[in-house]
Amino acid sequence: MPSPDTNTTVKVLLVEDDEDDAIITQALLEQIAIPRFELDWAPSYDAGMTRIKEHHHDIGLIDYNLGSRTGIDFLREANSQSSHAPIIMLTGQGNESLVLEALESGAIDYLPKRTISSETLQRAICHGIEKIRLQAELASRQRQLEMTNQELQKRTNEIQRFYHLLAHELKTPLTAASEFVNILLEGIPGTLNAEQEEYLHLVQGCCGHLNRNINDLYDITRLETGKLPLQIQADALHPLITDVLNYLNSKAIAKNITLQVCLPPHLPLVLMDTQRMRQVMLNLVGNALKFTETGGRIRVTAMEDPACAGRVRIAVEDTGIGIPQPQLKGIFERLYQSQPDPSASNPGLGLGLFICREIMKLHEGTVSVTSTVGKGSVFCVTLPCAKDSQVQALS
Ligand code: ADP
Repeated sequence: MPSPDTNTTVKVLLVEDDEDDAIITQALLEQIAIPRFELDWAPSYDAGMTRIKEHHHDIGLIDYNLGSRTGIDFLREANSQSSHAPIIMLTGQGNESLVLEALESGAIDYLPKRTISSETLQRAICHGIEKIRLQAELASRQRQLEMTNQELQKRTNEIQRFYHLLAHELKTPLTAASEFVNILLEGIPGTLNAEQEEYLHLVQGCCGHLNRNINDLYDITRLETGKLPLQIQADALHPLITDVLNYLNSKAIAKNITLQVCLPPHLPLVLMDTQRMRQVMLNLVGNALKFTETGGRIRVTAMEDPACAGRVRIAVEDTGIGIPQPQLKGIFERLYQSQPDPSASNPGLGLGLFICREIMKLHEGTVSVTSTVGKGSVFCVTLPCAKDSQVQALS
């Protein structure tokens, strides 16, 4: 289709059963210098339908009154057959109320016959052609976007499959290696000297670290494919927090970091998947240990959320290196690592906080952070309290 502002000839199909109106339209089109118009007149509905299916025209001007049928019938029949030139409906006296129906039936514009002049015809035809060109361009861009989107989705699926496969391939030999180290440490094949035992403990630590990374990879694929099932029930936070702190106590002692816990005696039960919340707490306290210098302090507190009734808020507060303000938003994103790990022997994958955020979302909970560089960070999670009925149902 030619662009309306060029000098090419625009081929117009006029479907008009009134010869006088057809002659007038032809005369008006001949007065227009740019673009040039070539008129093909079809004097009846059927002749017009045959011609429009030939796809020789750039635009159709269709009279609304076509004997026993109407321009709307024409539009509908043309639409049901195949794609065709854009159509402008010519409405006569008294047909104005049908304009909306014509547009809904696919007409790109309408022209009341009483207002037709060379200028209005030229403007309507050029606008119509341009509108169709833009629609085609939009549709083509949309197709490109859809293809790009499909391609991206395919890549994402491939990456997820790769994560899963990698995790699986690493997990099996790692489990075996870890078990053999345990057998050696238990002294089953023979007694170890102190040096050998120390080395094996180091290997055991490395296996544990690798195992956590592999589990993170598993969790990422499960989260992103919506396949991380939670077993939410009413449960107590007290034993969970104590257990996490006991588990990490040896690391705190090794770094000479004081671990403090402050829990009120009567904390309401919360709705949680205890294993997954243990994972969240291990990550938050583990990070606090990782990013706090020797001699620092970490405090874990829990209380009914003063800002939101019906929720419990747990805070992990450290006196570590802190996080610069501009980076605070990013740290919950996948693969984000804002700081070089001070204990370079123990780098993370930047997945931990992302997983925490997603797990908290699945709990209808939240996770947030405030931090001051050089002073420390406070990570807070909130969880919904269990309602009385939920607690009774369990007892
Ligand atoms: P990683 O497993 O690499 O530690 P995380 O998702 O757990 O990944 O953390 C992302 C980043 O957030 C870390 O690399 C670190 O820069 C920053 N970060 C997390 N917790 C703390 C903290 N308590 N103090 C300072 N920085 C932290």
